[in-house]
Amino acid sequence: MSAVSTRALMEITARPPVVFHRGEGSWLWDTDGRRYLDFVQGWAVNCLGHCPPVLAEALVRQAKTLITPSPAFFNDISSRLATLLAEHSGFDRVFFTNSGAEANEGAIKLARKFGQVRRGGAHEIITFQGGFHGRTLATMSASGKPAFEPLFEPKVPGFPKAVLNDLDSVAALVTDKTVAVMLEPIQGEAGVWPAEDGFLQALRVFTAERGLLLIVDEIQTGMGRTGTLFAFEHAGIRPDIMSLGKGIGGGVPLGALLATEAVSCFEHGDQGGTYNGNPLICAAGLAVLRTVAVPEFLTSVGNMGAVLHAELTKVSQRHGLGMVRGRGLLLALDLARPIGAAVVAGALRAGLLLNAPRPDTLRFMPSLTVTIDEIARMTGILDTVLAGTTDPTAP
Ligand SMILES: *Cc1c(COP(=O)(O)O)cnc(C)c1O
Repeated sequence: MSAVSTRALMEITARPPVVFHRGEGSWLWDTDGRRYLDFVQGWAVNCLGHCPPVLAEALVRQAKTLITPSPAFFNDISSRLATLLAEHSGFDRVFFTNSGAEANEGAIKLARKFGQVRRGGAHEIITFQGGFHGRTLATMSASGKPAFEPLFEPKVPGFPKAVLNDLDSVAALVTDKTVAVMLEPIQGEAGVWPAEDGFLQALRVFTAERGLLLIVDEIQTGMGRTGTLFAFEHAGIRPDIMSLGKGIGGGVPLGALLATEAVSCFEHGDQGGTYNGNPLICAAGLAVLRTVAVPEFLTSVGNMGAVLHAELTKVSQRHGLGMVRGRGLLLALDLARPIGAAVVAGALRAGLLLNAPRPDTLRFMPSLTVTIDEIARMTGILDTVLAGTTDPTAP
């Protein structure tokens, strides 16, 4: 038990009695000096691991140069990051935010604005059951997470829910009020459920034919996580709007809204925010993007993802569990029984951080720089924990 008191923090979730103090690469240390292997990485945030020197140095350098001049003025760092993001993504315009949810709020606002000026007031955005887009009121409304349904009523209207990988379910929801379809290329929080490449391709054709915008939420899947810089590249499609978060800051709060020129219709006063594009945080984004958007780096993510997939498949076979799914270094292991919380707790005791987005699912989102040795250590601990975990619902 740590000597540091956590009592003054608002209680918003059940957290284990561990207080973290220091991190390096795939490792975290608590205030008692105990070491943990981290396969959560701040929820797929620390794409280069904990405290990568390239990021720490960029932050220190920028902190001594210019932290924030006000969003009412241009600054060199956010301009450079926007240019580089546009070059690598095929989008034309970028708006920076402080979080993923804010990037999605911006995407929703941009789509509604587009509907207002170009589609006769169309404003509905079709989203998907199981989808997760954030914790602001509008992004909770856009999410298809059952646990959100009773919360904070009344919700923001205008987000009918379709079924992932079912184009007919999308078509059935389209009316003259529809302006866009929005989805995650892989539903992360729901338990790593991929939108099939064929579905994304069909959805792109369908939305283009109907004059609807296609919005991809790449907050969890973007920035190299799946082995390409953005997950939509696997399907070879070109969306109209994309949101980024998590990995783009490598651990510091940064998000981005990207759009094609044709869709970038905000007028003065429509969008803003005190910290948008502040050079301190954008310097982190630049350091991350320059590291990740290198073909060899992305190839290594794909290779390491294949290693993790193969090792998890062996774990599944050894313990009689279910399927491994996902792409690159965003993978899930289906436990086939509701032991997720027990496995996560057992792993923590054994010095391993894992996440169970659902009672029967483990999610793996290590640093994109994770090594074969670290994967082997992880599966070794997981084997021991699984061997000692019994199904509470078994007869
Ligand atoms: C995490 C996440 C969000 C929300 O991002 P925040 O930075 O927590 O606001 C939105 N969409 C997806 C797909 C995410 O994984």
